[in-house]
Amino acid sequence: MIIENVIKYIFHNYNWHLENYSAKEPEECIDCKALYIHVPFCSSLCPFCIFHSVLYNKNLVKDYFDSMKKEIDKYIDKNYNFESIYIGGGTPTLTTSEVCDLIDYVKNYYKIKEISIEGSIQDISDEKVNTLKECGTTRLSLGVEAIQPSIQKSIGRANIDEEEILSKIDMASKIKTLNVDILFNLPNQTINDLGYEIEKIKDSKANQLTFYPIMPSIRNNNLNKEIDESKEKQFYFYIMKNFVNSYFYQSNAWTYSKGSDFITDEYIVDYPYFAGIGTGAMSYINGKYLVNSFNINKYEKLISKNSMPTILSKDLSLKEQVYLEFIYKFYSFNIDNDTFEKLFGANIENYMKEELYLLYLINAIKKDSNKIVITDYGKYIANLLMKYFYINVSKIRKYCIENNL
Ligand code: SF4
Repeated sequence: MIIENVIKYIFHNYNWHLENYSAKEPEECIDCKALYIHVPFCSSLCPFCIFHSVLYNKNLVKDYFDSMKKEIDKYIDKNYNFESIYIGGGTPTLTTSEVCDLIDYVKNYYKIKEISIEGSIQDISDEKVNTLKECGTTRLSLGVEAIQPSIQKSIGRANIDEEEILSKIDMASKIKTLNVDILFNLPNQTINDLGYEIEKIKDSKANQLTFYPIMPSIRNNNLNKEIDESKEKQFYFYIMKNFVNSYFYQSNAWTYSKGSDFITDEYIVDYPYFAGIGTGAMSYINGKYLVNSFNINKYEKLISKNSMPTILSKDLSLKEQVYLEFIYKFYSFNIDNDTFEKLFGANIENYMKEELYLLYLINAIKKDSNKIVITDYGKYIANLLMKYFYINVSKIRKYCIENNL
């Protein structure tokens, strides 16, 4: 764990102190082409969750979506140039018709190239998949998390049997990119348990599979105490080994895709800046992180007063911006100098000489002509960097929820 701790110390030694923030309108940003929409409703609250989620309540839905339309209007007025939509949660598929109505609303103003939506295997149905396809969804990501009943139980998921999971995946595969999320390094999970999950899901109709490590939940519970990070590396390489010589290609540190015509699982990776709307949504605009209110009432109240629902912000230093961009690019195995030149006016080596040297030393990266190539060991390091980033963002979520911000 020494290398892991050194990497964590170097790349995540940020000061995540956020300032209070209020504004009437979004900042200017012609480069913000990605729109993130947060739908927090879930039918139950999973103990391992790292996202902002609340119990589904039918009475909250209409006002919430109306408020999001008003928030989008603010970006339209500021001439944002959206081309990609990512709808996360929560469980957006619980409110499929409202989600599609919102997509249609955005499409009145923008030519949208791709739409990615998260959902749960529990609530997806043929009718919902058809609705999502009709409104232009190009990627559906289903949270399956675990297939075996004993593993589902250990992470507090409602039981859904294997046949039902596979038949729902089959039914949802009419969406161009169908991703399935599976958690690994769960308490008491063995390599054989994970092998079983991989074997089943690999033969399913999903053309994208994302395996991500369990992380401390934003909820205080016993599951957090049971996470054993020392086992993660073994699981990580086991997954990788299982996809060698398969139809799947590793498209980033966590994701395996069939073919090359797919959308990746992270809008933050593909677009340098993005605007987030909805309660608890975060935006990253011109080097500034902005956080929306996590309280739905407060969120709607701010919108009704014609204010932005943003409550906190942080201006990242140049070094922090470079690190963040590096983490995203490292995660997607695509450290290209052009992006760094365009965003920061200089080659990556100008900003990260020592850090890159360390990564060479531990054999995480190597040079191939003028390109930085990520080794298999480097893919594991990329997994760690992204995980630590998620954990930091989760801490912000936890702070906002606990302080009713
Ligand atoms: S893990 Fe997914 S389904 Fe479970 S509470 Fe979190 S957002 Fe909702």
